[in-house]
Amino acid sequence: MAVDAEVVVIGAGPAGSLAARQLARKGLSVHLLEEHAEVGRPVHCAGLIGIEGLRNNGIVPHSNVVLQRVRKSVFHAPSGAQLLLAKSEPHAFVLHRDRLDHQLAQEAEAAGAKLQLRTRVTRVWRERNEMRLNIEHKGQKNELRTQFVINAEGINAQLMKPFRLPRPKRGYMLPALQYEVSNISLSTDTVHLFFNSQLAKNFFAWVIPLDEHHARVGLATAHKQAPEALAKFLHACHLTRGAKIEKRYGGIVYSGGPSSKTVTQRFVNIGDAAGQTKATTGGGVVAGGACAIMAASHIHRALQDGHYNHGELRRYERTWKRGWGRQLQLMTLLRRLVNTLDNQELDQLFSSLQHSKARQLIEQEGDIDRQGRVIRTAFTSPVLLRSALRLLLPKVRFLPQLLWG
Ligand SMILES: Cc1cc2nc3c(=O)[nH]c(=O)nc-3n(C[C@H](O)[C@H](O)[C@H](O)COP(=O)(O)OP(=O)(O)OC[C@H]3O[C@@H](n4cnc5c(N)ncnc54)[C@H](O)[C@@H]3O)c2cc1C
Repeated sequence: MAVDAEVVVIGAGPAGSLAARQLARKGLSVHLLEEHAEVGRPVHCAGLIGIEGLRNNGIVPHSNVVLQRVRKSVFHAPSGAQLLLAKSEPHAFVLHRDRLDHQLAQEAEAAGAKLQLRTRVTRVWRERNEMRLNIEHKGQKNELRTQFVINAEGINAQLMKPFRLPRPKRGYMLPALQYEVSNISLSTDTVHLFFNSQLAKNFFAWVIPLDEHHARVGLATAHKQAPEALAKFLHACHLTRGAKIEKRYGGIVYSGGPSSKTVTQRFVNIGDAAGQTKATTGGGVVAGGACAIMAASHIHRALQDGHYNHGELRRYERTWKRGWGRQLQLMTLLRRLVNTLDNQELDQLFSSLQHSKARQLIEQEGDIDRQGRVIRTAFTSPVLLRSALRLLLPKVRFLPQLLWG
């Protein structure tokens, strides 16, 4: 009996839709399955996404998707000291994330993928030379047969368990909370990040402008009291005092780094499900999307000539690790280092970053997505290396955790 589709993609987030779009453009038959009634809902994202990264993934956001263009970032130390990093041109968009997801799913459909909403995959298994999936659609159970499964279920991914592929690490999943607020005054080309180990342990709080009087204000924290912390932050922060809360969102930010193994026979994990997320900022749209496109290209090759070639998948694993894996590993290391710092030590770090050479280096080499380069360069800059060593030598006891999580 023939399969229902050559490839089934689970989850119509950015990673799943980009993979489906790429496969459909290559002429493969693709089913894109999404458990929700609408793509992009509920929203869990701050919507700050690198312009170049989107471009490299072949994404041109429609004009109704883009809210602002960001050129400046202000990093706030616990002491209140500020570090301003400014680019000459906008380097990131503030987006309507639901509309972006919608656009990508529509592009996948336009290329020929079959999008099925309200369709939840409950089980995936391999049977001889094909894959089977149990699905539920409006209370009805069904079975699908395919040559290949791409799992883009997001951070709470479960379906890889029978294949013994690692899931995102629970200890690095941080509860996050975000409000859309009004009644404030902001510069629309500037985002603000606030570091404070008591308020937002192992992460930071953010203020991202939607327009001059509206913003997304949120935080993620390893302490389990995100609502209390965010209420405190809204009140204490000079940018948001007196703000009126219009909408509330929750979610899980991931800072655990990429999974060591993402492929097995006829099954690939991509996006958040594979930990392809920047541990420094929790952003996964660009990195996960880039890996999704690579995975789709290799799967296309693996299925060419009508027979399945597992060697192509091993090549995919090597390619994404070379292209993004090292970047993501370096960001994970930086995240773990910063997680060891208390507020006083964060203040010291900020004061060494204020040094003009350090700032210049970050402004020149800094890239919102590919942060590996600036991290590597920073560790060879005498100014930064000296202060990093001063801060980190007392932390040798954390070494095993820093290296192996
Ligand atoms: C508060 C917050 C702020 C963030 N801010 C940013 C940001 O500013 N920039 C950025 O780049 N990233 C940000 N992120 C991270 C970003 O949202 C994720 O990295 C990104 O969504 C991952 O894309 P994905 O396609 O892998 O997974 P998801 O976007 O999570 O998509 C997974 C999809 O799979 C579906 N699904 C799950 N299980 C099944 C199933 N069994 N059957 C069928 N469908 C299923 C889900 O419904 C969902 O639609 C933020 C995250 C949070 C929580």
